[in-house]
Amino acid sequence: MDFDDTPDEAAFRARVRALLEEHAAELVHLDAGEEAADAGEQEQALRRTQRVLADAGLVGVSWAREHGGQSGTLAQQAIVNQELARARVPTLINHIGLGMCGPTVVAHGTPEQHERYLARLLRAEDVWCQLFSEPGSGSDLAALRTTAVRHGDEWVVNGQKVWTTLAHVADHGILLTRTDADRPKHAGLTMFIVDMHAPGVTVRPLKQLGGQSDFNEVFFDDVHVPDSDRLGEPGEGWRVALTTLLNERVAVGGGGNDLGLSVESLAALAAERVPQLSAERQVLARQALGRAAVAALANRYTGYRRYTAISKGGLPGPEASAGKLAGTTAAKLVADAGVRLLGDDAVYGRGPDGDDGRWQRNQAWLPGIAIAGGTNEVLRNIIGERVLGLPPEPREDKTAPFDGVRR
Ligand SMILES: Cc1cc2nc3c(=O)[nH]c(=O)nc-3n(C[C@H](O)[C@H](O)[C@H](O)COP(=O)(O)OP(=O)(O)OC[C@H]3O[C@@H](n4cnc5c(N)ncnc54)[C@H](O)[C@@H]3O)c2cc1C
Repeated sequence: MDFDDTPDEAAFRARVRALLEEHAAELVHLDAGEEAADAGEQEQALRRTQRVLADAGLVGVSWAREHGGQSGTLAQQAIVNQELARARVPTLINHIGLGMCGPTVVAHGTPEQHERYLARLLRAEDVWCQLFSEPGSGSDLAALRTTAVRHGDEWVVNGQKVWTTLAHVADHGILLTRTDADRPKHAGLTMFIVDMHAPGVTVRPLKQLGGQSDFNEVFFDDVHVPDSDRLGEPGEGWRVALTTLLNERVAVGGGGNDLGLSVESLAALAAERVPQLSAERQVLARQALGRAAVAALANRYTGYRRYTAISKGGLPGPEASAGKLAGTTAAKLVADAGVRLLGDDAVYGRGPDGDDGRWQRNQAWLPGIAIAGGTNEVLRNIIGERVLGLPPEPREDKTAPFDGVRR
């Protein structure tokens, strides 16, 4: 793969840059220095930002036109992502919808579901969340216990989800439920699209260490879901969920993105800070910088190769798990090296170039990203079994009826 823009890509990049300048006044920017708005105003501003970008053709670039996208290439989508980062536009509010829920609806939804949901998702008229994890099932997702029971043309849902990012602002979610406990655990699951404003849905934000609430507990008490909102066949929920999980692993680190802090920003920081260190500390800093740069660049270029394979019609497979593992590991090495260079200044946000504490914030945020969508240990299991062909651990729970398995 050629890492420089082709003439077409360079022209596309110039067009994207011009569009971002044209619409700058309508977009939220990370360092706009505006008064901190309350959460509701912030949410509306982020929804507006995504809507403006979507109307300018800059959201869902690689999605098919029939689904509201631009039928562009993944390289074009990567260019848009780079230009959004350059223009300091924050992560799009509907990032879970765009990265995970939307591709799942595209792959498994009916034409009516496509029509009803996808264009609104792209414009952030509806924000989406992913309702998979439960208090007793995270890594062992297929052990989930939220039930959906069929009554004619409806299903009635009862149970609890947890760690649901964005549920407090979401309009819809993709919801994985157990519909048949007499079958082995992976075979008794069914996926639905759920209206987060439906009677019986209760969302409780979880307060994090830093004071913010990014994720939630969600309770379902006799929530009625029409059968027309079932995503895939009854009992096929695991297959549908795998589409979501593989897209999540590509979206998180597997696409070769830098997860917030690039190796170039680390190099700029090092150019300023390393000469100020003692000779002994310079040696240690250079080692940390070398390790971080090698890991980050290897991840970036491997991610480009994966994008190339996907853009030629491939699907994200188990290698997406390796990508997510390498991506989060590299990003953590970059953040650690930056914090090490900054010392106390990292905590007080006194770094160069208008540093607002981002090195320390990223260092604190990345361990969570290494858990979300598959922990490092679980990803290593997948790589061992599905990429290297090592024998799996013996498990009775894969074949026995779910209700008969010890828990
Ligand atoms: C920032 C963040 C955002 C999230 N957003 C969402 C969301 O939007 N929607 C959603 O549904 N969920 C979300 N999650 C939940 C996430 O998917 C789970 O946290 C994750 O799958 C791990 O599950 P768990 O927390 O129950 O940990 P557990 O599964 O209980 O794991 C505990 C420890 O045991 C290890 N372990 C477990 N099984 C094995 C094994 N077989 N072999 C070796 N080690 C093992 C794990 O690696 C881990 O270290 C989010 C989590 C985070 C941190």
